[in-house]
Amino acid sequence: MTRDLIAKSAVMAASQTLLELRAILDNATVGILFTKNRVLVQANKAFVQMFGYDSADEIVGQPGSVLYPDHATYELLGSEAGPVLAAGAPYRTEIEMRRKDDSTFWCRMSAKAINPLRTQDGTIWITEDVTERRRLRQTIEQSQRELEAIFENAAVGIVFVRDRTILRCNYRFEEIFGYSAGELVGSAMGELHPSDLDFHRFDDWARQRIAAGEMALTEIRGRRKDGGEIWVRATGRQAVGAAASVDVVWIFEDVTERHSAESALRRAHDELEQRVLERTSELSSANQQLQAEIFERLQAEQRIWHVAHHDGLTGLPNRTLLQDRLDQALTQAGRSGSRVAVIFLDLDRFKAINDTLGHGVGDELLKHVAGRLSAVVRASDTVSRLGGDEFVIVMAGITGPDDAAVAAQKVIDALGVSVTIEGHPLHATPSLGIALFPEDGAAPLELMKNADTAMYHAKARGRNTYEFFTQRLTAETERAFTLEQRLRQAIDDQHLVLHYQPLVNMATRKVAGLEALVRWNDPERGLIPPAEFIPLAEETGLIVPVGNWVLAEALRQNGRWQAAGLPQLPIAVNLSPRQFRQKDLIGSIRAILAETGQPAHLLELELTESTLLHDLDAALDILRELDAMGVRLAIDDFGTGYSSLNHLKRLPVHKLKIDQSFVRDLCHDRDDAAIVNAIIGLGHAMEMQVLAEGVETGDQAAALDRLGCCHYQGYLFSRPLPPDQVEQLFNPAVLASLGAEPDYAI
Ligand code: C2E
Ligand code: MG
Ligand code: MG
Repeated sequence: MTRDLIAKSAVMAASQTLLELRAILDNATVGILFTKNRVLVQANKAFVQMFGYDSADEIVGQPGSVLYPDHATYELLGSEAGPVLAAGAPYRTEIEMRRKDDSTFWCRMSAKAINPLRTQDGTIWITEDVTERRRLRQTIEQSQRELEAIFENAAVGIVFVRDRTILRCNYRFEEIFGYSAGELVGSAMGELHPSDLDFHRFDDWARQRIAAGEMALTEIRGRRKDGGEIWVRATGRQAVGAAASVDVVWIFEDVTERHSAESALRRAHDELEQRVLERTSELSSANQQLQAEIFERLQAEQRIWHVAHHDGLTGLPNRTLLQDRLDQALTQAGRSGSRVAVIFLDLDRFKAINDTLGHGVGDELLKHVAGRLSAVVRASDTVSRLGGDEFVIVMAGITGPDDAAVAAQKVIDALGVSVTIEGHPLHATPSLGIALFPEDGAAPLELMKNADTAMYHAKARGRNTYEFFTQRLTAETERAFTLEQRLRQAIDDQHLVLHYQPLVNMATRKVAGLEALVRWNDPERGLIPPAEFIPLAEETGLIVPVGNWVLAEALRQNGRWQAAGLPQLPIAVNLSPRQFRQKDLIGSIRAILAETGQPAHLLELELTESTLLHDLDAALDILRELDAMGVRLAIDDFGTGYSSLNHLKRLPVHKLKIDQSFVRDLCHDRDDAAIVNAIIGLGHAMEMQVLAEGVETGDQAAALDRLGCCHYQGYLFSRPLPPDQVEQLFNPAVLASLGAEPDYAI
């Protein structure tokens, strides 16, 4: 081989090596720079690209300072690196470098002198763009710091545990258990439990759960460093992603306050419950008391209600309750189309029983009647007492008048049985009036009024009977009512007058006495005859004041005639049944006689048979007393009643007045003549005067005369006359015209 060849092959080998080196440099992923005396000599592709140049040519020959952001950095690096490189050591740094476009990037550089002894031989720089890596690192560091901050500042205690030992815990965890920072690291978890037993129980349970991949969550009692007890809520789970040395990460929350609040709440709740229990029992006893009071009050109210709605004597519903019941019955009947009967009941002659036997007997009789009425009607009917001897029966749901009639008859039958009260056998016969809903009225009051009207007529018909209401009855009742009002007024206004009718001696045709007959001198209607108002006065009781006035006025008038020089004549005055039974009849007659100064023998009282026979014993007593006083007694309308001779014989009566009904047809009717004859015979047999009433004709007078009748009265001699005309009767001239002379003898 020639030297040239050797040289040539050496050159070729060298250039080959150079090429290989070049390839290595260009393909290196790091930047490689060769500098000499701080001038850029050679750079690889990666370096050129890293610094933003297009080719190495652009930087070769440039001073190193073009790569630095500023001159000061360049100088500083030079002064730092120089001694290091000179010492043969590698120089490493990470600084910001400048690209061609003046932008900067973080560059890790390591440099080594080719020959430390001769630094001017140059330096090799390896550069790496670490901008991205730095950013990542910073991000990681930042998030680590953040995690750390979270860890340390967490409001819950966090602890990493392995083998029951605390590997790491945060500040809050130690704070919860009362330790200072860092004190618990390395401690056993058991320390934090009240007792070993507590810990093991908890630990066993927690391990099981966690081993099963579940979360362990519980509230347990913990022990603080100072021994104090706390309540913690512990949540533990397998530490995923934590260091392999960590078994479990626990989060602890201090729930002591909540626990004490809860237990306070529980206590409060228990106390409350207790209080509620106590209060409930208090309340229940108060309630019982209240119930008792309410019950008492209810009873009292019921009693008051009962008293207010019932009659005190008989216990029957009173007028108020009756009206209620009747209201209900009418409403119901209106709906169902059925009928209701209102039966008004009044006891006949109850007042007489009350007056003669006393109120005690009267009350007993009313109770007895109430009992019988209640027994006779159906349970659904209402028996009520309005007061006095008035009762009302309401029968609901009846089909027609027949039902009411049957009930009324039952009542009559039931009361027809006599009862003995305080030794007196009593007969409380009733009079009943019936009004039906709807035909006789739609409202309670109307029905009651109409039943009352019907009852009034039942009484007029003869008592112990019943009567249905008809419109005719109202008209009559209304007439009677207005008549009564007017009669009262007439008494007050002194519109009553007396006329006098002579009683004549048959033989002498002389006036033997005068009968006082009352008239009502009505300013509008003129003289109203007694038949039109005496029965009403009798029914209403007005007869007592009327009768007393008649008695007094007749005696006064007789006194006036006597004073005027007329002969002393007896005055006959009619006494009605009621008047005869008035309480102090004797007393008031005595008073009137005394007041008028008239002698008793000039007073003749006319009574009817029925008046006398009603209560014969009582009548006898009165008659005997009157007789003893010297008052004369006559039986008026004789023959119309049913006097038995037996009774008649016992009565101290001085005169029989034959009723005009027998006189009227005396001359034509044999029966009448026979009766008149019998009466005359009877009177004479008993030493009584006999007077014939209503003698209108001479034939009648003659017939009577023949039969031996000693006195008569009638239009034949004179109609009843006003007082001033009576005086004319004693005028001889007038008398002569009447065919008679005054006869002063009786
Ligand atoms: P009396 O007591 O029987 O009276 C007789 C009645 O017959 C009187 O009717 C009288 O006017 C009437 N009269 C007399 N003569 C005749 C006659 O020839 N023919 C007819 N047709 N009638 C004659 P008066 O005055 O209308 O009285 C009727 C009844 O009224 C009386 O019947 C008497 O029961 C009663 N009365 C009259 N005044 C009173 C009184 O003051 N008190 C009471 N309680 N009743 C009286
Ligand atoms: Mg008379
Ligand atoms: Mg008469």
